[in-house]
Amino acid sequence: MDHVLALRCLLCGTEHRPDEVAYVCPAHGDDGVLDVVYDYDLLRRRTTREAVADGSGMWRFRSLLPVEPTTPVPPILVGDTPLIDAPRLAATAGVARVWVKDEGRQPTASLKDRASAMAVAKAAERGIGTITTASTGNAAAALAGMCAAAAVRAVIFVPASAPPAKIAQLHAFGAAVVLVDGTYDEAVALSMTAARLRGWYNRNTGFNPYMTEGKKTAVYEVCEELAWDVPDVIAVGVGDGCIIGGLHKGLRDLLALGWIDRMPRLLGVQATGSAYLADAWRFDEDVTTKPAIVADTVADSIAAGLPRDRVKAMAAVRDTGGAFVTVSDEEILAAIPAVARGCGVFGEPAAAASWAGVLAAVEQGFVGGADSVVIMSTGSGLKDVAAASRGATAAGITAVHARADGRDLDDALDQLEMR
Ligand SMILES: *Cc1c(COP(=O)(O)O)cnc(C)c1O
Ligand SMILES: [Zn+2]
Repeated sequence: MDHVLALRCLLCGTEHRPDEVAYVCPAHGDDGVLDVVYDYDLLRRRTTREAVADGSGMWRFRSLLPVEPTTPVPPILVGDTPLIDAPRLAATAGVARVWVKDEGRQPTASLKDRASAMAVAKAAERGIGTITTASTGNAAAALAGMCAAAAVRAVIFVPASAPPAKIAQLHAFGAAVVLVDGTYDEAVALSMTAARLRGWYNRNTGFNPYMTEGKKTAVYEVCEELAWDVPDVIAVGVGDGCIIGGLHKGLRDLLALGWIDRMPRLLGVQATGSAYLADAWRFDEDVTTKPAIVADTVADSIAAGLPRDRVKAMAAVRDTGGAFVTVSDEEILAAIPAVARGCGVFGEPAAAASWAGVLAAVEQGFVGGADSVVIMSTGSGLKDVAAASRGATAAGITAVHARADGRDLDDALDQLEMR
């Protein structure tokens, strides 16, 4: 890994050698989140935009990732998800362009596969055969899936209240599952303790510095799909802040390499009931001291009382001239059918939240008519069909009924026509 210069602490700036520390800066307990520092001069000589076009999936970008050239990765395609042009959504919002990055098409149906594939690779480098994480559901499903592909053991801590589809995925993939009668934040604490007690590899978001690095490959693909001509705004639902931090990191990499020539504004979208970062941004609060809140939203994937990657998330918005916006659960639920009908991408609540956030940002004047916008649809709508049904019902979307013998078919069709 001669291209990785150091792991730099986001709190004190100390640079550690990657073989010196596994997860965090020892000076601040679990809060000393690290950022991977690359030798961009070396990378510029070593790789090109053309070179990374070769092959398939996120590991095409291996030269820009913190792994050894020979590290085994899960033998399953992660990444290369489509970026879908959505002119009807653009017209609805009154902006120049909208594209939707459909991460629901990942193997376990969320963007989290990128991070979990990275976790499996890093665990292999350290020769550790069991990986643990806490999760609101998707990181867990992703870790379980990537571990199944690589024949590694996964031990998962999730709130018992996670959507059934996500828990079903864990069982199907053969993970060892601990259902926690509590919140995501409480599940994190248990998983951290378990990792220490048993010496397991710890994938926990924010704590593990490499998860951002896996997630950044999503924005490499976005820029590549737009022929390296970046959009003005990238919108994403934010819980822990690891994804938005990863998008920021990927964009910083591409700028440093000279592969893109400007930085998009990052729009972080939070639920009104889980607005730790949006509040910190609005009121200029210090996230290293701001206490946890109680998170409550229908968008389980962005429910986080104490966002684990809060430092990276704040930097992502501040340093790109971006913004945080909040959206209500009603707006999130309404966004599910709106995006699905508007371009054919069916997202879970946290995924559709990005679209609700764009509408809010247009209203607040943060996004304007000349802007081109990418929304990150971070997970599939099949993850939470109950929420999708609620969104459809609230939008007045209903079916008509027809008798099996066809006697009232004509009436039923008339009713359809009247919609
Ligand atoms: C995890 C997740 C998010 C939020 O990512 P953070 O890194 O927690 O901010 C958004 N959408 C989906 C579908 C997710 O699984
Ligand atoms: Zn430090």
